Amino acid sequence: MEHRKAYLTPEGIYLRDYFMNTTRKTLSNKLDKLFSLKVREIGYCQKEGCGKTDGLQCAHIYSRKNKWLRWNLENAVCLCSGHHMFWAHLEPAEFIRWCMKIKNFDYLDKLRQINRPMKEFDMQEIYDRLKVS
Ligand SMILES: [Zn+2]
Repeated sequence: MEHRKAYLTPEGIYLRDYFMNTTRKTLSNKLDKLFSLKVREIGYCQKEGCGKTDGLQCAHIYSRKNKWLRWNLENAVCLCSGHHMFWAHLEPAEFIRWCMKIKNFDYLDKLRQINRPMKEFDMQEIYDRLKVS
């Protein structure tokens, strides 16, 4: 099967490289890992009054099934495991009201409306952009 080697994106020509033969699943896992790492680089639980620096987790605002938001830093916060599991997940309404104070929901909702399917090269582009951010 022939693969295109370059794609034209809004930011210019995009070249495929080492992900050429990786499956979507592998790529998705790699992206999840890198994304979580980036979110946790914040270094502390963002819930005010907590500030824990260990056991940090990446908490998504819109669920990961929203592919165009899944690896967008605006769609995640850094929380300690306690605030992630026992606050964000148990009190979702409170969590979202809090997120609305620190995140740009207009932007997130715009991304949510993208209805073209995410392709492998889209994922690779996101990966490369995350890697250098
Ligand atoms: Zn916390």
